Amino acid sequence: MSDPPPPGDLAAILARLIAREGPISVAHYMAESNARYYFSLDPLGAAGDFVTAPEVSQMFGELVGLWLADLWGRAGRPEPVHYVELGPGRGTLARDGLRAMRQAGLAPETHFVETSSALEAIQRKSIPTALWHCDLATLPTDGPLLVVANEFLDALPVRQLVRTPAGWRERMIGLEGGRFVPVAGAAPMDAAVPESWREADAGTILETSPAAAAVIGEVAARLSAQGGAALFIDYGQVELRPGSTLQAVRGHCKVDPFEAPGEADLTCLVDFAKLAEVAEQRGAHCLGTVEQGAWLRALGIDTRAAALARAHPDQADAIAAARERLVGEEQMGRLFKVMGLSAPDWPEGAGF
Ligand code: SAH
Repeated sequence: MSDPPPPGDLAAILARLIAREGPISVAHYMAESNARYYFSLDPLGAAGDFVTAPEVSQMFGELVGLWLADLWGRAGRPEPVHYVELGPGRGTLARDGLRAMRQAGLAPETHFVETSSALEAIQRKSIPTALWHCDLATLPTDGPLLVVANEFLDALPVRQLVRTPAGWRERMIGLEGGRFVPVAGAAPMDAAVPESWREADAGTILETSPAAAAVIGEVAARLSAQGGAALFIDYGQVELRPGSTLQAVRGHCKVDPFEAPGEADLTCLVDFAKLAEVAEQRGAHCLGTVEQGAWLRALGIDTRAAALARAHPDQADAIAAARERLVGEEQMGRLFKVMGLSAPDWPEGAGF
């Protein structure tokens, strides 16, 4: 891969492209922006732009690992078996999860699907024995896959459609006075919109993520062919609602997503209902989609927090605060959802 220009230049490159060729789709803008954003820096943690669940507490990765080990055990402990993480960030979830799995007798080979060389270097320090992949195509085919993706799907590019007085159009990014602004594309897009939304009011926006659907479809097909299970954890909704959910986060604050492409994390809410449909069509069993707080409580986060606090009394307050951050209704507990998938002949998963 050749080195891209430094982050500040992406705005100039996109501005030149739009001036020359006309507006680009929201999906194109989001893909370029996030590829640049993740390529060169470590955005995670207190010093970065946002904090994810595995960075809040070791309890998160441990419970994910125990969930996988429990299912694998009840599936008859098949070997070889592979742990696959999509977008593993700093490798924190994998480190905590694999430790919990080992304690339960499960020691899978580890595969990371990662496009950011900066984050790959950090992951390598955390799990030196892992194998890295650019996409899912090169994952092994010789045994069940135990797949985990936390805050991965929300970073994949989203396509937006906008209703205009003349019908549905793709929502594009144009240039106005040197600034990026959303505009309606020229080509009619009515055929891409579900029947019940065709006559929506002008200004209505609908989102779909073909990239997320492609990932779920491929994972589901692998589970169906090879066995295994998958957990997709993300902030999202369980039914299609209109409106743009595109947001940008930088330095723990929401910023204008059109302000500085490549310098903030662009995300959209994940449409779990649609993805569950795709998974079932591709042959996987959808175990369910539940709120993160309820799932972690069903898996025993309260017991784990109490045990950790007993072992480290000086950190009891921090442990209680981390537990609350992961499960609290006003915090991550409600907005974040956990979707479980499994091979059709695998057992049901705990907490769904
Ligand atoms: N799962 C981690 C990191 C979440 S951030 C955590 O919970 O802390 C999103 C992660 O997905 C980063 O590792 C980023 O580099 C990776 N990523 C983003 N787009 C990707 C893509 N198209 N293919 C593979 N990895 C991608």
